[in-house]
Amino acid sequence: MTGLTLPAAINLREVGPRDGLQIEKPISTDAKLELLANLADAGLRRIEATAFVSPRAVPALTDAAEVAAELHNWPGVSFSALVAGVGGARRAVDAGIRDLEYVVSAADGHSMANVRCSTAAALEQVREIVELAHDAGGTCEVIIATAWDCPFDGPTPRARTVAVSRRAVEQGADRLCLGDTIGTAAPGRVASLVSAVRAQNPGVPLGLHMHNTRGAGLAGVLAALQLGIVDIDASIGGLGGCPFARGATGNIATEELAYLCADSGIETGTDLGKLITAARWVQGAVGRTLPSGILRAGDRRRNSSSRDIDGFQFAEFTKTTKGEP
Ligand code: ZN
Repeated sequence: MTGLTLPAAINLREVGPRDGLQIEKPISTDAKLELLANLADAGLRRIEATAFVSPRAVPALTDAAEVAAELHNWPGVSFSALVAGVGGARRAVDAGIRDLEYVVSAADGHSMANVRCSTAAALEQVREIVELAHDAGGTCEVIIATAWDCPFDGPTPRARTVAVSRRAVEQGADRLCLGDTIGTAAPGRVASLVSAVRAQNPGVPLGLHMHNTRGAGLAGVLAALQLGIVDIDASIGGLGGCPFARGATGNIATEELAYLCADSGIETGTDLGKLITAARWVQGAVGRTLPSGILRAGDRRRNSSSRDIDGFQFAEFTKTTKGEP
């Protein structure tokens, strides 16, 4: 009908509590739990809750175990946590997390800066992390960071990213995800890498993790949707940024992706109004204006209430927050 080949539904994974908050001014554990409650209430069923990484590298997520201990409050939500090595994977599993995401940078420059080891050395840990996850009754997804470009090494050769994906699967990875860490990939390169990685790893679920740094995030998602990719990451309000690029914006905003899907007849299982409420709340919690266009403009396809007015956010935040965000 539309001339586009689009899926009937997507599996939206919310990554704001991890990818978003890791770069924002730290907020309290109570505030994080309130954010999780808002996200679950908005219908999100896959949430990357936190990360078990070096507290020195990511001081905003030092309370990972405390957050993990509360996740039983939302039994209908599938929570995961990001890890950057075997040690973190062990801590995550000990904290009760079953589904792990292990990030491997396809580019050595980013890998060295991020986890102080080469891509090859990072790949060698996949098997042990997979075993930890499986022993806990869970799964391990390998997220390939800098899949398209690296802030240090420049463009990542496509063959290199494909080889990393193949090696990860050989080492037992249950799922793959391609990360556009610095937000440089536009639809053409998204489609060509997605196709190449999928051809190399038939039958392995493949997700997409786009950053909207240069405004092309949703365009890349649309290209992937047309290729049948349905596992899409997004962060509420477009939270986040990049530690290697000051001023860079974060992931594509969850409510923008939900809007794109709603207006295109693609099911996400979310309530757009509640997503906007959650985005407005977290904007107050982190204390800065978030980049989401939907947060700014609202969903004007329907009659909107005054709640869509931007200035309402702080009043609402003051009223509902309990912690010291
Ligand atoms: Zn990211």
